[in-house]
Amino acid sequence: MDKKGKVFFIGAGPGDPELLTLKGEKILNVCDVVIYAGSLVNEEILDFCKPDCIKFDSASMNLDEIISVIERYISEEKIVVRLHTGDPSLYGAIFEQMTELDKRGIEYEVIPGVSSAFAGSALLKKEFTVPGVTQTVIFTRYSGRTPVPEKEKLSELSKHRASMVIFLSVGMIDDVIKALKTGYKEDTPVAVVYRASWEDEWVIRGTLEDIAEKVKEAGIKRQALIYVGDFLAPKNYEYSKLYDESFEHNYRKIKE
Ligand code: SAH
Repeated sequence: MDKKGKVFFIGAGPGDPELLTLKGEKILNVCDVVIYAGSLVNEEILDFCKPDCIKFDSASMNLDEIISVIERYISEEKIVVRLHTGDPSLYGAIFEQMTELDKRGIEYEVIPGVSSAFAGSALLKKEFTVPGVTQTVIFTRYSGRTPVPEKEKLSELSKHRASMVIFLSVGMIDDVIKALKTGYKEDTPVAVVYRASWEDEWVIRGTLEDIAEKVKEAGIKRQALIYVGDFLAPKNYEYSKLYDESFEHNYRKIKE
């Protein structure tokens, strides 16, 4: 694959550099320029870049500045990486960047990453989709300084009582819990995962009744995810049909 003059949006994963994909690492090895989200991307991941790779921290840049850096180096046929935390398709503001690149006829590719949502569920050792409990996962955030569409208000979403992962909202834990109580029962389990996959990762467990106090006591205001739903402590769940000996599917017939 000829990478010259192309932009690669890469998911850096949740923190642990070993959770970067092999494909992402290979591109970082050869890129000329990297624009990384300094607030959350582990800087150790930048060690995969060549020593003379030019690095920009996007934390202090606006969209225009990011696009002009990309434009400048692409016109010189450089390989440019835009490094996002977790997976870029979740709260990555990647779409607007792609739209601007489309307008300029700049080619790009997206390399997925391990979202912090999955680093957290791995740490919790839980399955979001436990048969008989829930088969739906909602990724969302509480409306803070930036709004969420009215139809997706947390109080509305909570009525489904699905497995839920709430990004960018731990600083508003009281409001989040209040909204969740509209649909979920008060004894529904909740876990707050702080800095999943980093050395100082931390889990706080509770229910809708007591989690807000625990989170405030611990002083967690950012870099955390709120997990809610019965998948955290499933009762009356079923084993899946997939591995059930009496259930045939394309890849496995019932043994005589
Ligand atoms: N694209 C990212 C999310 C970016 S939004 C992803 O897929 O993970 C930033 C929010 O993600 C943070 O406010 C926090 O809620 C969450 N987050 C990112 N990294 C995290 C981590 N290692 N542990 C817990 N939450 C994390």
